[in-house]
Amino acid sequence: MKDCLFCKIVSGEIPGNPVYEDDEIYMFNDISPQAPVHILAIPKRHIATSNDLKTGDEILIGKLFLKLKEVAQGIDKLKNGYRIVTNCGAESGQSVFHIHFHLLGGRPMKWPPG
Ligand code: AMP
Ligand code: ZN
Repeated sequence: MKDCLFCKIVSGEIPGNPVYEDDEIYMFNDISPQAPVHILAIPKRHIATSNDLKTGDEILIGKLFLKLKEVAQGIDKLKNGYRIVTNCGAESGQSVFHIHFHLLGGRPMKWPPG
């Protein structure tokens, strides 16, 4: 989608450095890491928020989640645990409106998040 930051990263218009990529999924390091490991996982297809998911997207999102788990299991700093979180809407703190899953870890995490 035009004017979407993450679509531009997927298309290569903005240089990216993927941690993982296949035909449907793209993962890259967050530009402002909030933990020693902070990876963003996105579907390549533009979906703005979790509220915009539709019947049929469960395959894509399920695949993304399983791949994220595989990536996490391959990172030594995450061997004691990690967090996967997605923000939906302005009040949650969502700032980029292309659905993304944060993979965070490498330090003790607090609960509840702020
Ligand atoms: P959210 O606040 O949940 O929408 O998360 C958006 C995330 O995108 C933030 O953690 C930002 O640091 C991250 N971000 C913004 N621009 C870039 C970029 N060009 N490359 C990588 N991560 C980015
Ligand atoms: Zn997009």
